[in-house]
Amino acid sequence: MRITGSCLCGEVRYEAEVDPPTVGICHCTDCQRLTGSAYRVTVPALPGRFRLLAGETKRYRKIGDRGRPSDQHFCGTCGSPLWRESADGEIGLRLGCVDQRLALRPTHQSFAQSALPFVFDIKDLPLERDG
Ligand SMILES: [Zn+2]
Ligand SMILES: [Zn+2]
Repeated sequence: MRITGSCLCGEVRYEAEVDPPTVGICHCTDCQRLTGSAYRVTVPALPGRFRLLAGETKRYRKIGDRGRPSDQHFCGTCGSPLWRESADGEIGLRLGCVDQRLALRPTHQSFAQSALPFVFDIKDLPLERDG
């Protein structure tokens, strides 16, 4: 599936090819902090099928538990987290910045041990619609 994406301010834009069943949720504590939210949803770009169309990202290099670096790319103007790039060039796109995110659905979750307990139980919360 061909997708496009951008940060909130629109400075950074990209396109990529993804395999929809590979969308995943991560509940690790790094993802909670890096998103400022409860968990992160990522879809990997197919190898060699990611292309930056506009703008430049800032990056933060995180050394993982196994000593492997991973670059977190974000927009230096608006701060949107855009993608992660592993040392061997794998790109994990953050679902919230993907234009076609309504059509993509996670198929698995990782790091369940650090998940915030409420995330498994939001179905019955009152629903409000803004606007
Ligand atoms: Zn931006
Ligand atoms: Zn994580």
